[in-house]
Amino acid sequence: MSEHRTGAPGRVKEVTSLANPLVKDIKALALKKFRDQQNAFLAEGLKLVIDALDLGWTIMTLIFAKSALGNQAVEKVAARTVAAGGDVLEVSEKVLTAITRRDNPQAVVGVFAQRFVPLKDIRPKDGDVWVALDRVRDPGNLGTVIRTVDAVGAKGVILVGDTTDPFSLETVRATMGSIFAVPVAKTHPEAFLEWRKGFGGIVAGTHLKGAVDYRSVDFGTRPVLLMMGNEQQGLPDNLANTCDKLLRIPQAGRADSLNLAVATAVMLYEIRRDALKLQE
Ligand code: SAM
Repeated sequence: MSEHRTGAPGRVKEVTSLANPLVKDIKALALKKFRDQQNAFLAEGLKLVIDALDLGWTIMTLIFAKSALGNQAVEKVAARTVAAGGDVLEVSEKVLTAITRRDNPQAVVGVFAQRFVPLKDIRPKDGDVWVALDRVRDPGNLGTVIRTVDAVGAKGVILVGDTTDPFSLETVRATMGSIFAVPVAKTHPEAFLEWRKGFGGIVAGTHLKGAVDYRSVDFGTRPVLLMMGNEQQGLPDNLANTCDKLLRIPQAGRADSLNLAVATAVMLYEIRRDALKLQE
């Protein structure tokens, strides 16, 4: 390992060996156990890292490919990382491939501190829409829901029960950067049901046996909590029973159900229909 100066006002460590302890720690972030131990996660791509810094996320380490040396935008991000107290590593393609577990990795990767919003701090106002996901298992689904919540201007996501990790590499990839824009809370069903008692808006669950067509509901201006069920089992009774309405998205063909992320998108576009009306 050697140290030298780039345009960044601080020292940049050059790392080429996979045996380097810093690289080992970053590679370990592929596993939830180590993400939780380090309270950290990886995000790939220069634009994502810049967006995250602009949104006030804490960068712990910036990793960039040797080939990006001299790139002004990368050097600026390196300077911001050092100013924020983070490390900067200039690495070989081999090291980047190992860290991201991908051939042709992005030239810039950031290690950020994880951030969850405490459930007690979520006090929705009129017009706010939150999505509660019951035991979501698939990282692609979770990432896509977070991205869709961002796209429609909903407020955030509440993860209920044992769920896939929002900070896994797969989930973060699927969010396409929205992980930095969308607040995420996680909670147990009991704590969620307690919090729900104080929720002063409409709690709309979606269910294959829902009695109400989702298009027939006037969501009005009160806060909306949209509840979506687990991919295999759907909403369990204790969550379904707490909903003000159970809504069904009509289907015509042979499919049993819609994919969770697709159903969430259909619902969010309906709930946010007025808010998303084209401006003349
Ligand atoms: N086998 C599961 C069941 O019996 O509910 C299917 C779950 S589905 C893949 C995942 C979630 O997406 C459901 O729990 C529900 O929240 C939502 N969903 C999917 N298709 C739906 C539909 N046609 N109407 C209402 N909700 C739907």
